[in-house]
Amino acid sequence: MIIVNAALRDQEGLYFIRLENRTISAIGKMGEAPRIGEAGAEVLDAEGGLALPPFIDSHLHYDSALTAGEPNWNRSGTLFDAIELNGERQASATPEDYKRRAVQTIKWQAAQGIQHVRIHADVSGPKLTSLETMLELRDEMKAWMDIQVVAFPQMGLMGGARALELLEEAAKIGADGIGGIPHFEMTRELGVESVKATFDIAERYDRFIDIHCDETDDEHARFIEVVAAEAIFRGMGSRTTASHVTAMHSYNNAYAAKLFGVIKRSGICIVANPLSNISLQGRFDSFPVRRGITRVKPLLEAGVNVSFGHDNFLDAFYSLGTSGMLPVLHMGLHACHMLGYEDIRRSLDLITVNGAVTLGLGEDRYGLVAGRPANLIIMDAPDAFECVRTQAAVKWAVRGGKVLAATPPATTKIFDPATGDAETVDWFRSGL
Ligand SMILES: [Zn+2]
Repeated sequence: MIIVNAALRDQEGLYFIRLENRTISAIGKMGEAPRIGEAGAEVLDAEGGLALPPFIDSHLHYDSALTAGEPNWNRSGTLFDAIELNGERQASATPEDYKRRAVQTIKWQAAQGIQHVRIHADVSGPKLTSLETMLELRDEMKAWMDIQVVAFPQMGLMGGARALELLEEAAKIGADGIGGIPHFEMTRELGVESVKATFDIAERYDRFIDIHCDETDDEHARFIEVVAAEAIFRGMGSRTTASHVTAMHSYNNAYAAKLFGVIKRSGICIVANPLSNISLQGRFDSFPVRRGITRVKPLLEAGVNVSFGHDNFLDAFYSLGTSGMLPVLHMGLHACHMLGYEDIRRSLDLITVNGAVTLGLGEDRYGLVAGRPANLIIMDAPDAFECVRTQAAVKWAVRGGKVLAATPPATTKIFDPATGDAETVDWFRSGL
């Protein structure tokens, strides 16, 4: 296949991208395309659309996706009601139910350009049904999506004898990553112990770590320092992620300055989930209400790898969403005061290359570069700014050198009230 007339980030002019044997074999300027139109090569015209490596969702829960309203809608919208409602719904979940909802979500994600996702499967028991089903899906849906499965102890690790056993069992049967939820444990000390237990299991089974960390407005929740320190001691920084870390928004600046040094030294990644963070946090505040999202911009400026996740999708925690990453990015940019021109232009990193670092994809597995896998998307927008501004559709999603999804651009006509003359609206090129 040859993709022609594609725009690239930060490059002038239009490019061709040749895909052969599931690999990007060449990228070059349109005028230099050597064999375009040759017999047998499928030609896909990007019509000036921006080509990107696929979007990456760094944090999602398939096991609760598409359960909103079951058994009841979350009327308060709070995290606590969500955990209760979700517990009720999960009690009746079967492997078929998990699969049906996850497969639908995967297809919607694929249509919106996502080809790599890290999901968190609840292992709070009594059985590992969610995790086992997600591990099957990881293999069955490979042609659609690269899925990393984290064993996530939603109800904590230190409250019952079985919780740690289940987490270890999850590692044994093939979970890619080991999770934790230290701020949910009964005491600070148990929270610290739980972090160490997560690292112990990850070390023993050679897994990565992704901990739901300090997902609260409580400024005394400081497990991020424990996660970073453990990562330093054990030399596991490049394989460790702290998700959410929302409490950081309320740390005093002197502590945050010291903390940033530790995080930077550790090399861990941070994942923020703007849609659920801004909706679930700030719930104990009277006005003024805090935004509830971690310090994304200062972390990036300090050189820490930050990426974004959708987290929840059509469930008790977050009842909206499309499963796409551009609405997540849009919310994040607003909530984090990242609306400077350069912030906006660079922001696609949060759902592409930074996500690849979080997921540990490595240079050979991701990127719009010759020699890498033939996975890419063509946006209905000419550049990064317009892509973010319009939350552009993915015109073409290509995986393994084949078209996986296509969304023809929408057309809108307006009619001059005086003359009735029709004009087609070009939403996607502001001309800036
Ligand atoms: Zn989560």
